[in-house]
Amino acid sequence: MFFAVLFWFQGGAWAHEIETYDQKVLAAAVAQFDRELDQARAGEWDLARSPAYANLMAIRAGIRNPMSRADQPDVTAIAPGAGSSGQINGAELPRHTWALTYDDGPHPTRTDAILDVLDRHDVPATFFWLAENVVRHNRVLLRTEAEGHSVQNHSYTHVDLVKATDLVLGFEVSVSTDVMKDHYQIDPRFFRCPYGSGAGNARVRKKIAQEKLVSVMWNVDSLDWADKNVDSVVERVRKQMVKTGRGIVLFHDIQSHTASVTERLFQALAKSSLPIRFVTVPEIVDEINGRTAKQ
Ligand SMILES: [Zn+2]
Repeated sequence: MFFAVLFWFQGGAWAHEIETYDQKVLAAAVAQFDRELDQARAGEWDLARSPAYANLMAIRAGIRNPMSRADQPDVTAIAPGAGSSGQINGAELPRHTWALTYDDGPHPTRTDAILDVLDRHDVPATFFWLAENVVRHNRVLLRTEAEGHSVQNHSYTHVDLVKATDLVLGFEVSVSTDVMKDHYQIDPRFFRCPYGSGAGNARVRKKIAQEKLVSVMWNVDSLDWADKNVDSVVERVRKQMVKTGRGIVLFHDIQSHTASVTERLFQALAKSSLPIRFVTVPEIVDEINGRTAKQ
């Protein structure tokens, strides 16, 4: 009964909230990001050090850049824990290895469009989904899993976990995990904080670790939530991929143009000489841990 009330409150109050931004401010911030990206030398691009990215994150959720340098993991095995080895951002991946990630779904049509593109190119991806959407769109979940992709936890309703009370934090991290496990046969091993907020917060990290989940950030951001132009989103991702050489790419499967972005990105990458291997997050973490264990 108690959780039923909480479900209703959370779903009703926050689930359908539309994010609105000052479009001029947003466009200027994206342009600043792109300028910084252009000026970075290959091998030196780092989202965590980008003032323009910190600015964009501040616009998105009223938070500061969630990825401080201190959050970067050691070369120990990646496993649930509140310390550095309990969180990855993509820098840990082997060279030329990429995990494409799609957040905030499942969406009743837009996720399908992305799955079609991934299927055509035979690329596996990792979906960080909200429990509230998993509950609504079970068909999309079944298709995604049947096609070999990985589904992981992105909270129940996408609140800023740093600002959440302990009760809400438990709902967003623990209840969402239980619902996915008990009712939807998803076995989440990874958690992505909404807005990336909480990745550097001890209380949030402890809760994620308690659920035996590893926190997953990203080191390439498409900014597909802020920029609706397919060409510039693709170019932004491609440039970051060239300059980082490995990592985790952030997209959102609730955005209408992200399927087109994915298709055009594959086309652009096919034309470039960049060697690329696509993996899911659990697959590559198991591989990294296997390698670490042998050393
Ligand atoms: Zn999200």
